[in-house]
Amino acid sequence: MIQPLIVAVDGYSSCGKSTIAKALAKHACSTYVDTGAMYRAVALFMTRQNVTRPESIIKELEQVHLDFTHMPDGSQHVTLNGEDVEPFIRTLEIGNRASEISQIKEVRAFLVAQQQKMGERTGVVMDGRDIGTVVFPKADLKLFLTARPEVRAQRRFDELVAKGEHPKFEDVLADVNDRDYRDTHRAESPLRQAEDAIVVDNSEMTPDEQMKVVCDLYDKRFQEIYDRYHR
Ligand code: C5P
Repeated sequence: MIQPLIVAVDGYSSCGKSTIAKALAKHACSTYVDTGAMYRAVALFMTRQNVTRPESIIKELEQVHLDFTHMPDGSQHVTLNGEDVEPFIRTLEIGNRASEISQIKEVRAFLVAQQQKMGERTGVVMDGRDIGTVVFPKADLKLFLTARPEVRAQRRFDELVAKGEHPKFEDVLADVNDRDYRDTHRAESPLRQAEDAIVVDNSEMTPDEQMKVVCDLYDKRFQEIYDRYHR
């Protein structure tokens, strides 16, 4: 039996990683894991507890229990100590807090260990920043998604407006640039393209075009592994 594939989807914030990873998981009949939601849930916990100092954050980690629940519509919600926190984690504030706490080595180790366990059981399509470099350096397929900052800021802006928020485009663009800087310059597991990752720049692609590119890459990789196994 071929083991289900482990697919790593890394890339900058707001470049459509989760949409692609979710759709790819469906295509591959695999499990999708949104690691950004895990960082966001930890950030929400710390915000609610009013904990800001790194030493205190590290100490509080033992109070944090994360899981994912599958919703009837096929989506997945992260739970924090049993509470579905999906409605609270997608704000700009929590995104920024997540980006801050993700710089703490102990926070990363805490979440990476859980992510590795999730991939052990079944194949997985996992999206994040360090999946192909740290979580699964031996992933069967590594995708690195990117798009121009202005394109990503526009997508993020549209999402926030659809949620009833009233952001200024300049603020969203500044936020995208700040987050890129923090993600690529942090000391712990900075965002970088794994040497064997395939880069997909989706600035000029429609969602359907992008989906076709990614599914074709998956099918090709699956076929290679299948052929090697049946040689
Ligand atoms: O992907 P998303 O925007 O939901 O992630 C929130 C933040 O969590 C990111 O800005 C990034 O700093 C951090 N993150 C990370 N490593 C991951 C996933 C997310 O550092 N694997």
